[in-house]
Amino acid sequence: MRAHRPTRIEVSTDAVRHNAARLAALAGTEVCAVVKADGYGHGAAAVARAALAGGASTLAVALVEEGLALRAAGIDAPVLVLAEPPVDALPTMVDAALTPTVYREATLDVLDRLGRQRGTPVGVHLKVDTGMGRVGVPEADWDARLRQAVAATGLRVEAVYTHLARADEPAADTTRDQLAVLERFLRRGASAGLPAGVRVHTANSAATLLHPAARRDLVRPGIALYGLSPAPDVDAAAFGLRPALRLVTEVSFAKRIPAGTAVSYGHRWVAPADGWLATLPLGYADGVPRALTNVGVVLIDGRRRPVAGTVCMDQLLVWCGDDEVAAGDEAVLIGTQGDEQVRVEEWAAHASTITYEIVTQLTARVPRVVD
Ligand code: PLP
Repeated sequence: MRAHRPTRIEVSTDAVRHNAARLAALAGTEVCAVVKADGYGHGAAAVARAALAGGASTLAVALVEEGLALRAAGIDAPVLVLAEPPVDALPTMVDAALTPTVYREATLDVLDRLGRQRGTPVGVHLKVDTGMGRVGVPEADWDARLRQAVAATGLRVEAVYTHLARADEPAADTTRDQLAVLERFLRRGASAGLPAGVRVHTANSAATLLHPAARRDLVRPGIALYGLSPAPDVDAAAFGLRPALRLVTEVSFAKRIPAGTAVSYGHRWVAPADGWLATLPLGYADGVPRALTNVGVVLIDGRRRPVAGTVCMDQLLVWCGDDEVAAGDEAVLIGTQGDEQVRVEEWAAHASTITYEIVTQLTARVPRVVD
């Protein structure tokens, strides 16, 4: 459908390519580019291609559906699905050559049977819970699951992996503790007959950037691939990573208002002087958090301008003071304009959340334009 609205998300595949290459160089390992949740809101197929072009060897998604969408887009690189789907989805996964994560007895059984029926063992990644407490083989089941995996002729354990709970907190001991638990699992695996060459991976973005011991054979960065910081204390820009996304629109209406004029729902903002007020045609239904009310910043004419009043569902207002604005002027909500920049990290701070939530909440009604 032709876009009638001027609002768009511009995605720089160049930045994603650069970030993948940067992460590979920094980690000195293979990179598995995490492109779940539609590439963290950037558009999964485009960022997957860019990450592969930058040197990533593998992709990862959360859902079978997301893996199938990559295949439908013609991407034939290895794709790891990071959590087990219901068992009835397993044949579809195998047919599409999506690599299953496994940790439950029933899943290993079904995949073993499928591998034997088809005469080709199914390559799987065995996930171990070392302290995240979410999914993965819990310690009480280590021996049983290892015995099952080693005996299953229809399966081939290609990798063992775990997920870290506090890798974004440089001072926390949890990462070291989880890696020690993983070592214990690997020793248990060696005694149970797990092949010596089995690959190991543990590192999300924060661990890739901060914890060399977590890098192992492959790293699994998501947020850093998009040039965004995993946490306020872990600044992506300091590692040479570049934001890949701009959120851009145009002023839809502009007028001069007198000092003392109250605007938008609740009249939470009052003009401090006579001056120019711009209306922008996007709002919280596009993913602009309502938390930007009276504190967010928008770039118009190369300058930082405050959001005036309550962010509405489809519109928001921007105070331009003495500077005349007109309908059609470019407004940048995320990204650069001239020498100025608004970062996703700023929005996350205003909304008391993380960069991940901001970009994955940019809604489907904003067209993604890939360069
Ligand atoms: N690995 C797993 C298992 C994940 O669930 C995620 C995302 O949540 C990632 C890697 C990527 O994490 P990040 O975006 O923090 O790099």
